[in-house]
Amino acid sequence: METKVIRITSAPLSEQLVLPGQIIASGGLVVFPTETVYGLGGNALNPASSKKIYAAKGRPSDNPLIVHVARPEDAEELAFTVPSFYELAQAFMPGPLTVILKKKDIVPSETSGGLDTVAIRCPANPVAHALIECAGVPIAAPSANLSGKPSPTSAQDVLEDMSGRVDCIIDGGPSDIGLESTIVSLAGDVPVLLRPGGITYDALLCVLPGLEIAHAVTHEIGIHEKALSPGMKYRHYAPSKPLILLKGPEEKILSFLKQKQLSEKCAILCYSEELSQLNGERLYDIGRGSDLETQAHRLFSSIRMADRSDAAVIYAHLPILDGLGLALYNRLIRAAAHTVIEL
Ligand code: AMP
Ligand code: MG
Repeated sequence: METKVIRITSAPLSEQLVLPGQIIASGGLVVFPTETVYGLGGNALNPASSKKIYAAKGRPSDNPLIVHVARPEDAEELAFTVPSFYELAQAFMPGPLTVILKKKDIVPSETSGGLDTVAIRCPANPVAHALIECAGVPIAAPSANLSGKPSPTSAQDVLEDMSGRVDCIIDGGPSDIGLESTIVSLAGDVPVLLRPGGITYDALLCVLPGLEIAHAVTHEIGIHEKALSPGMKYRHYAPSKPLILLKGPEEKILSFLKQKQLSEKCAILCYSEELSQLNGERLYDIGRGSDLETQAHRLFSSIRMADRSDAAVIYAHLPILDGLGLALYNRLIRAAAHTVIEL
């Protein structure tokens, strides 16, 4: 398949997105930018489109897709909304939040991964918003990476994974946030945070005081445990080289890394303030230790770069669990298959 690449210019989006809108409406696949990461989109109401998405990603078909709508009210057509959905929408939509609700029959089981629930998101990125309008249908879209690889945060990353597998890629520049959306389930008796992201747990608590955090956000899923979100059980965000996380006082981490640089071919996702103290080879600056936003922005691209290097192993800091740190922790701990060295 030949993949058309469209670079967004200053011309009106409604003109630039006519073709990608038609591709989605007629059953094709379009990769598009969102404020979180790039999404691999198809018509959410067309079972054949969802099947194509799974095939393009190489993703297991029981892992459901997120359905993107232009306005929170558009969820009415797809799901049984509850008052707390609109409270969340008022506070955080459009934005990097996905909400799980009981689905209506119009959503094919191919899109919901066979579940009786559906994930709804209303993206803030103007290109994503305009694409949904041009397509005239809700857009089902997982992250536009090959299954198991880190999510793409630039059109370059997307080309690496999806060239020849989709009809069109829209290049809208680097993703603002760089981590996938926060996922909250309102489909059960109590609201549950299934995946931390750009909207933090503390911000959500202001709207949903009883919000629980799913065990799997910070822990490995046991073999007998049922995953609340199918995506939790798959190895995810993973580089092909082993990734090891380091926990402990900064001086100990630095001396560990200096010693490793002498004895093995390692790549390091380091803090900006560590740059001058380490050998510059295979060193990836993910931002200052206190700057979680920059770390989120650079995390996946740094993992991809480290993975492309000739390193045998990758080291990174174990993030703190506060604020955006919870989302960084969740992605890194899974990319590292829970391998942590405590110093
Ligand atoms: P991605 O599209 O790559 O960001 O992944 C979407 C995530 O949303 C996956 O981890 C899915 O398991 C999760 N998800 C989508 N729909 C549902 C749902 N109905 N219930 C629970 N989790 C969902
Ligand atoms: Mg994904």
